[in-house]
Order: sequence, then structure tokens, then C-alpha cells
Amino acid sequence: MGRRSTIALLGLALSAVLVVGCGADSGNGAAVTSLAPPRASTTVVPSVPGAPPRVTILATGGTIAGKANAEPGVGYKAGQASVQDLISAVPGLDKIATLQAESIANIGSQDMNEEIWLTLARRINQLFADNATDGVVITHGTDTIEETSFFLDNVVATDKPVVLVGAVRPANALSADGPANLRAAVSIAAAPAARGRGAMVVLNDTIHSAREVTKTHTSSMQTFASPNTGPAGYVSGDSIRFVTTPQSHTRPRFPVPDGSSLPRVDIVYSHAGMRPDQVDDAVRHGAKGIVLAGVGDGNTAKAVLDALAKANDDRVVVRSTRVGSGEVVRNAEVNDDELGFATSADLNPAKARVLLQLLLTVGITDPVRVQQEMNAR
Ligand code: ASP
Repeated sequence: MGRRSTIALLGLALSAVLVVGCGADSGNGAAVTSLAPPRASTTVVPSVPGAPPRVTILATGGTIAGKANAEPGVGYKAGQASVQDLISAVPGLDKIATLQAESIANIGSQDMNEEIWLTLARRINQLFADNATDGVVITHGTDTIEETSFFLDNVVATDKPVVLVGAVRPANALSADGPANLRAAVSIAAAPAARGRGAMVVLNDTIHSAREVTKTHTSSMQTFASPNTGPAGYVSGDSIRFVTTPQSHTRPRFPVPDGSSLPRVDIVYSHAGMRPDQVDDAVRHGAKGIVLAGVGDGNTAKAVLDALAKANDDRVVVRSTRVGSGEVVRNAEVNDDELGFATSADLNPAKARVLLQLLLTVGITDPVRVQQEMNAR
């Protein structure tokens, strides 16, 4: 297997790049039974009219690359299998598209960070700018896949598909779900019908838009949901069916920020009997923005609201909700106009945090402008 290895950007991980050849008799999405290992070369695959679509798989780790019993006392460890292992576990994946694969990182997504987000965004934008691929698949842990997909959705400069995929069961578990999920993701990334939909997440035959998707169950294979809109579509064998219209806004919404980090935005989580300490702590640690994971309609205890109002003097406060679905309504129980708050609309706290970080990188701090951007779909 030919393979070109380089040290990944910013010293994050060993990067292995390979190009997997596609059989001349292959058809897009054809059912496949061959177990033959994919052929490989190191050449960039040019776009040829009539040729199979080209899909680039960027691996970051997660349970999809996890292995059971890696450590005593721990059920399994995420981020163990290589990207080539993942491809080899899906017979005939190279019949769906001509594949390139790179390892960006191999971590559990609980350790996902801004440095890797920025590396991913730059790599994806470069691949599309060079016309080196027709779609991108990112293998990722499920814990923070909704944040990474939403970040990429906002900064990737393409209408071609960007599909994030994970698994609930480790790669060597009984009935591992990763191979079927990866097959679905490559099919979507190769499909012209998937264009214009921004970043998507696919697991368990269900396609979700990055803005809508959230993890709802700790261990079920049907863990992902889009609570406010329902899924974007479904995969059934070789058939991909979208049930929503493509998003209308142009891409990217934001340039990829320079450097290796984003402005600090903290989330404070509201609960009964809450004191303002979390807000004070965020201020003390230099947060440029605070997202409230409020109770109900993004609400919180009077003392915390007072602390947020004070913090709002020189940072941005966005009210979101810990509820899990629904929209945070302005000026319902909290006087946002008077206190200078924005609400997250239907974005959950983790995604409101990502969007606020991006807004801060382009200097948007006025609550009216922040509100417009939170509302924009
Ligand atoms: N902790 C894992 C991760 O997010 C869980 C998973 O992938 O399902 O990487």
C-alpha cells in the first residue's frame, strides 16, 4: 500500500495521505461484495468528466476509530484505528468514489480543540480551492461532532458536501456501526444532490444539518436528532433521500480565523440555587463572551442575571437554554433590550458559543448584530 507520510500541521498528528484507486467497472453507490484491498497511489486525482466522484476522508479519531479493552478498567479507547483500517472495514468503499485519505488527528472528540478545527478548515478549503476533491468526509467522535460540524459549516468555502461521521460502537465491537456509517458518509459526499447543504452529520442512516444536529442519548445508535426541524434526509442502501431544501446563505459565512485559537467564550450552566460564581470566574479568566445555558427560555437566578448584566459592559452575553429544543425568545421573561443581551435563537449553548467565537473574530460585538447572526439560517 503506497503511502506518503508527513507531520501534520501544527504538530498535531502524523499525517498519512493515500489515494485509493477506483475500479473501471465501478458505479456510484453500486452494491459491492469484493473484499480486495484498495489500490493506492500518491498522485492527486484530477477531475475528469464522467469519472467517478472523488472523496477525501479526513480522520480525527473518535469511537469510530476506537478499540475495546485498550486499557485495563476502561471499556474501550477512542482514536486507535488508522484511517486505512476504517476504509478497509468497508468492502467496496472504493467502488463508490475514488478515495483520498489523511489523518488529521486521532483523538477522542472530548479532546477536540480549536487548533484542530482550524487545521481541518484550512485543509478542506485548500482541497476545494485546488479542485482536488468533490466531497469531504470527516471521521469524528460523537461527543463534539455537533460543534465541529457547525464550526466547519460556517467557515468552509464550498457548496460541495462536507459530511461528518462517527460511530457509537468501537471499531472492533460486535455489530460495530462505523463501517455502515462510513459507507453512507462517502455516498453522500459523492452525491451531487448533497450540494448546497453545508456541513452534515450522518449516523444510523440519518442525515442531519450541522446547525440542527445534537447528541441526545449517551449510548443509543439513534442518538442524533435535529430537535427543531427533524433530519435533513435518510440513507437506505444506495438511496439518499433529502427531505429538507438546501440552505440559502452563501458560503463561507466567516473567513477561517488566523492563528491557532479563537476568542475565549465560556458557557455558564444554570441550575436551581445558582450563585453568580461561574460568571465571575469567566470574567476573571478573560472570557470575551459568555453564553448562558439557562433554564427554560434561557433564564437564570436574579443574582446571576445581575452578574451577567455587569459582565455585559465589556463583553458579549448570549442567552441560550439547557432545555434541548425550542427557541429562546427575546424579552419574554428577561428584558434583553434593557440589559443588552442577545439570545441564541434555536442554537444550543455549545453552538451559540462557536458562533459567538466567530463573531468576535470579525469584531461583531453589538448585541443587535449578534442577534441578527444568531437568527441567520
Ligand atoms: N468519546 C467518544 C468521542 O467523542 C465518543 C464517540 O465517539 O462516540 O470521541
